[in-house]
Amino acid sequence: MARRKLVAGNWKMNGLATDLAEVAAIVAAARDVATDVALCLPATLIERAASAVPGFTVGGQDVHAADKGAHTGCVSAVMLLDAGARLTIVGHSERRLGQGEGDADIKAKAEAALAAGLDVILCVGESDAEREAGRAVATVCAQLDASLPSCDGVNLAVAYEPIWAIGTGKIPSIDDIGEMHAALRGRLVAAYGEAGDAVRLLYGGSVKPSNAAEIFAVPDVDGALVGGASLKAADFLPIVEAAASR
Ligand code: PEP
Repeated sequence: MARRKLVAGNWKMNGLATDLAEVAAIVAAARDVATDVALCLPATLIERAASAVPGFTVGGQDVHAADKGAHTGCVSAVMLLDAGARLTIVGHSERRLGQGEGDADIKAKAEAALAAGLDVILCVGESDAEREAGRAVATVCAQLDASLPSCDGVNLAVAYEPIWAIGTGKIPSIDDIGEMHAALRGRLVAAYGEAGDAVRLLYGGSVKPSNAAEIFAVPDVDGALVGGASLKAADFLPIVEAAASR
């Protein structure tokens, strides 16, 4: 099935008001490209960015599973939507590892985000040790099975992000990316039937202008989740263009 590509930037804990000019530059250049583009910004910038670039998809990086309540420091899906976000990442490995989030937490977050009306990018990925042990596909498929939201599969994307590739400059071989995405597609179809075939499967981990085209050429790679290279228009836009030219 032909799926329109999605290139989403993940700014992580980066970005001040002065960086909104970079958002504007990305949006201006990405407006007419034949691919979907989004920026997942720190919560502090979402409202300002969404107001400055109406119509562009601004996203969050995490949500709490509850709509409101005594959860100091957390942001709910309803709050993100209220601030102007249209999507959110859940299950990024920096939250799974750094904040101790498990598959059940991530499933609940994804379900809360979808129920609020946000699109969701659900992240999964193996550690270096799991890949070295030959358990990458089994590990990531099990992670996906346990964190997939109960839903119709619409408004959901999945990002395969090997932990060892994030921010390191290392990426899996093209064959390994293909093998993982084919396996994940199988799990999505098993979970959602025909709708699972329409779920976009992104690759994430050290995507750069220099490797984007070969990654986007892999079957079942429907875009990318981009960290470091999404912070500057000069790095991010060539990746967007590589996706648009597939
Ligand atoms: C990420 O953290 O989602 C990511 C893909 O980071 P990077 O592109 O910097 O490896």
